[in-house]
Amino acid sequence: MPKLEIEHSKCQGCGLCVCICASEGLELIDFKSTLREQNCTCCGLCESVCPRNAISCQLNVVLAERSALP
Ligand code: SF4
Ligand code: SF4
Repeated sequence: MPKLEIEHSKCQGCGLCVCICASEGLELIDFKSTLREQNCTCCGLCESVCPRNAISCQLNVVLAERSALP
């Protein structure tokens, strides 16, 4: 199951990830991006826009590892 992880120590609360998500998969709580896991499809869009590299989707890592196999 794909899983999105947010490092709250890196998040500066800019809200870019919340705005870009079409699935309402994120919300800002106390100026920190917080996952609404039931809505997230792990599309990776929020990961690509975060200026602090605070978001990572494990699905992207798995695909990269598989593509490196012979
Ligand atoms: S885009 Fe990054 S820094 Fe901005 S609110 Fe989202 S996780 Fe935090
Ligand atoms: S990975 Fe995609 S669906 Fe999940 S929170 Fe980020 S933008 Fe929304």
